[in-house]
Amino acid sequence: MRRCLLLAAALALVLVGLSLSVGIFREQVARVSGSAAIEKGPVLILDAGHGGEDGGAVSVTGVPESSINLSIVLKMRDLLAFCGTDPILLRDQDISLHSADAVTLREKKVSDLKNRVAAIQAQPNAVLLSIHQNSFPEARYRGTQVFFAPTEGSEALASHIQSAIQSALQPENTRASRPIPDTVFLMNHIDCPAALVECGFLTNPEEEALLRSEDYQRSLSLVLTSAWLTAGAPEESPDSGSTQQAPAT
Ligand SMILES: [Zn+2]
Repeated sequence: MRRCLLLAAALALVLVGLSLSVGIFREQVARVSGSAAIEKGPVLILDAGHGGEDGGAVSVTGVPESSINLSIVLKMRDLLAFCGTDPILLRDQDISLHSADAVTLREKKVSDLKNRVAAIQAQPNAVLLSIHQNSFPEARYRGTQVFFAPTEGSEALASHIQSAIQSALQPENTRASRPIPDTVFLMNHIDCPAALVECGFLTNPEEEALLRSEDYQRSLSLVLTSAWLTAGAPEESPDSGSTQQAPAT
């Protein structure tokens, strides 16, 4: 029953997004830029973190982060298509995006990230959402943590997503969005607004089970999609975070 209520709340957010048509955030970007080409609004790029040989963090039951990231991004793509929006997906399969001349796993990871940056930078008027799963040595930590890039518009976007997660899915999660650590290559080498969403902790058994489930992935996708569609709308400020962990990107 509680899940139904939460899903209903998330769906309501989507409908609010639809009623706002192209979205207030997009209109704001267009106004700030003053460019005729930008009036259509920004293009959303969805980055499913890791992939292929680079599985990212591994869950307590042995599931790679990369597969959960991809599943959530594919669900977001389907929801956005329903809303008449076509995001760009950096990957839609379980693959690494490295160049052919990368040989070692290390070289492939570096090449993959550089190619992702190049793809994002090549897209004018883009906004990036990068989807990851967290891990931490202590199993007790759980809940979504959103990070923002050091680019204009990123902090507001990340804050909006963090609030939407709390409102619709995780009322106990009082974290605030945080600046991305400068060790995260991709988020520090792009010029567009960007948020990185660590959806949950693969090292917390209860949350790991949720993150593996289609139902919870669908709920997360719905909230993230509705948060994107409603970005820029007035909202309450989130409380300050009480637990803060670096992302396991
Ligand atoms: Zn990651």
